[in-house]
Amino acid sequence: MQELGRRWRLLAEGAGIAGLLCAHVLTRAYDHVVLVERDLLPDAPVHRPGVPQSRHVHGLLDRGLRDIEHLVPGFTTDLLQHGAGLVDFAADIALRTPAGWLPRVPSCLRSCTASRPLVETAIRRRVLSHARSSCTSATWPTA
Ligand SMILES: Cc1cc2nc3c(=O)[nH]c(=O)nc-3n(C[C@H](O)[C@H](O)[C@H](O)COP(=O)(O)OP(=O)(O)OC[C@H]3O[C@@H](n4cnc5c(N)ncnc54)[C@H](O)[C@@H]3O)c2cc1C
Repeated sequence: MQELGRRWRLLAEGAGIAGLLCAHVLTRAYDHVVLVERDLLPDAPVHRPGVPQSRHVHGLLDRGLRDIEHLVPGFTTDLLQHGAGLVDFAADIALRTPAGWLPRVPSCLRSCTASRPLVETAIRRRVLSHARSSCTSATWPTA
């Protein structure tokens, strides 16, 4: 990662997927990034109130998977080791459009079938192991 040579401490709100990845990128520019999260963050990949959509079935598409892997190397392996599956988006998934069923053909489009809590936990483990980022949970800013 390119160091930008700035030396301030930054406070960011929300330790969901976006907040964690933002904090990770911002460690290039800041001495320390502190995430402030409203929920009490569980160690295990389980649902929590701040992310109500997480009970919905989730899949991580090719571009998102590659981008997250680029930011936090080892992320995909971590997901697979914890039960996620890797599928060929065009061959393994049946897709129906207004024009009918799409043909199932082999492609280079990978998709990862992982729950939202598992994706977040794998990112969190890696991002918060960085010395320049930390998270305070069950807290929210009042001003
Ligand atoms: C029905 C549904 C299905 C979806 N399916 C997919 C899918 O298949 N694949 C996919 O990639 N995406 C899918 N998504 C989108 C995916 O769930 C979201 O893009 C992703 O969860 C967004 O993460 P986020 O970190 O931006 O926000 P959130 O998940 O909303 O996280 C926000 C965080 O901020 C915290 N917070 C909020 N307010 C405060 C505050 N005042 N102070 C401190 N902390 C605060 C919350 O507790 C939470 O931790 C789906 C979404 C929905 C609704």
